[in-house]
Order: sequence, then structure tokens, then C-alpha cells
Amino acid sequence: MTTIKYKLGLVGYPLKHSISSLLFREIALRENLPLRYTCWEISPAYSEEFFHWLKRSEISGINVTIPYKERIMDHLDQFDETARIIGAVNVVKKFGDELHGYNTDWYGFVESLKKACLQPSKMLILGGGGAARAVLYGAVAISCRAVTVVERTEEKVRKLRQDFSPLLELKVISWESSLLAAEIEEADLVVNATPVGLPNWSGSFPLETSFLGSGKLFFDLIYKPEVTPFMKIGLCCGARAVNGLDMLLFQAMKSLEIWTGVKTSFQSWQEAYQKILGCEAH
Ligand code: NAP
Repeated sequence: MTTIKYKLGLVGYPLKHSISSLLFREIALRENLPLRYTCWEISPAYSEEFFHWLKRSEISGINVTIPYKERIMDHLDQFDETARIIGAVNVVKKFGDELHGYNTDWYGFVESLKKACLQPSKMLILGGGGAARAVLYGAVAISCRAVTVVERTEEKVRKLRQDFSPLLELKVISWESSLLAAEIEEADLVVNATPVGLPNWSGSFPLETSFLGSGKLFFDLIYKPEVTPFMKIGLCCGARAVNGLDMLLFQAMKSLEIWTGVKTSFQSWQEAYQKILGCEAH
């Protein structure tokens, strides 16, 4: 019997659609890694207790998802510069009884953009939450010239301006703005960083569909269904479109590297995902 060296997992709420534990189990088998990956679906009422327990536990590291990516920062002893600027942590590693935080979502975004062979010069991001901020940091990292964000909550608009205006040419507009149609027209990359279009979502996308899509990439952070409602809008207008699966796999690959130091190939993650899909289909 192999001794478990890395005790890992994911905390979030709800987690019933998460494929992370299947993915990491499959990677552990393929790469012969002594790890265990658990899912902790913790309701907000118990989150404080969970974070306190984490500090005392023998857990080596965790992934963090909605709604805890920002909240967990109050419980960390350190976080890296990218997590500080983004204002969200999706990877925690334990060093003794200290918890250190990282953000690998931005890395996942940048790597999947490279895979889609696009170096954008003008980006439009729908949504201004944690994932959008990781995408914005990605835009800074690849020296994208200008970014427009569509966000409706005043406090988030203020924070976005405060944190990212010094780093790139940033515009924040509302969904009702008369500028939105022109922004789509001008952007070479349009990113959906809202939950609009998730499988259990009802209602349509509040977007004009009369733009010229050629030369544009529509990038949805959502990866299920494979062709999302947002991707369909882009495809109908002649744009290319990708979903968020590659981003998910790249950020998971980087998480594993942070916890274990082990570098794995992206192909291995793609094959692991295909295997899970195959199992789900039967
Ligand atoms: P979040 O922090 O809750 O932010 C959600 C954003 O969407 C906010 O700006 C919110 O606006 C906006 N929004 C929500 N409902 C809306 C609606 N009906 N109309 C317009 N805007 C709406 O969530 P997040 O962590 O950024 O995640 C966003 C999406 O990205 C989720 O679907 C998540 O699964 C996905 N994601 C994917 C990956 C990946 O690896 N592929 C990684 C991270 C996240 P308000 O602030 O006004 O509510």
C-alpha cells in the first residue's frame, strides 16, 4: 500500500458539479503520485471553523473555489504578489502551521490563450468578480493594450479602477451602456467571466448580436456545456470560440506543481479529463 504524501482537496459551496477530485485522482494514477484529493463542500455558516481546522490539520494544500476565494485571504499567513493584486486565492499550501496563498487562475487563462494562438490588443471582459480580476491580471502579464470590463456593482467597479488602472488602460462600463456594442466591435478578445450560461441558468445573454465576428475570439470561462450560449453568440457572428476547460486544466496543473514541485504535461491533464468524460458517458 502506498503512503499518502500529499493530502489535498478543494473547498467551496456548492461543489456537486466539480470534477476536481476525479481529475486529481486520475492524474495521481497516471503520474504515480502519492496523493489524496478530497472535496469539502462547506456551507458559509461553517467556513470559519473549516479554515481554523485547516491550519491545525495535516492537509498539504487545497484549492479554493466560489464563494471562498476572497474570504480565505483573512486566514492566510502570506500570499504572493499576484494573489494580492487579483484579490483572490485559489491555491493554498501549508508550510508547517502557516498557510500560504497563490492564484493560478490567471496562469490558466494566459496559457489557454496561448494555446488558442491569440495575442489580444483590445479585450472586453463581461463581469468584474474574482475570475474577471484574474483575467485582468492575465491581460497585464501579456501586455494587452486596453481592457474594458462590464460590471454592475458599484463597489466592485471602484475596486477594479483602483487596482488595475495603474497597470493598464482600463475602462469599466455598465451592461446598459450605449458603449457596449462599440466595445464588442473593437475588441479582438471577448471574455465571459459571469456565471451566465451555466447549465442550470435560465435567461439569455444581454448582448447585441449584429457585430462582425471575424478576427475575434469569444472565450467563455464556463466549460459545460462544451459549446456554451456565449460561445454560440460569437460563432453565429463568425468569431472563433473556446470554453474554459483548458483554463481549468492549466490552473489545476499549476496547483499540483505548487504543492508537490512535480511538473506534469498538459497532455496528461487532457487525457485524464477525456477518461473522466468517457466514464461519465457510461
Ligand atoms: P464571482 O466572483 O461571483 O463574479 C461573478 C461576476 O458575474 C460578477 O461580476 C457578477 O456581477 C456577474 N454576474 C453574475 N450574474 C450576472 C448577470 N445575471 N448579469 C450580469 N452579470 C452577472 O464569480 P467568479 O469567481 O468571478 O466566476 C465567474 C465564472 O467564471 C463562473 O462561471 C466560474 O465557474 C467561472 N470560472 C472558471 C474558471 C476556469 O478555470 N475555467 C476559473 C474561475 C472561474 P455582480 O458583481 O454585479 O453580481
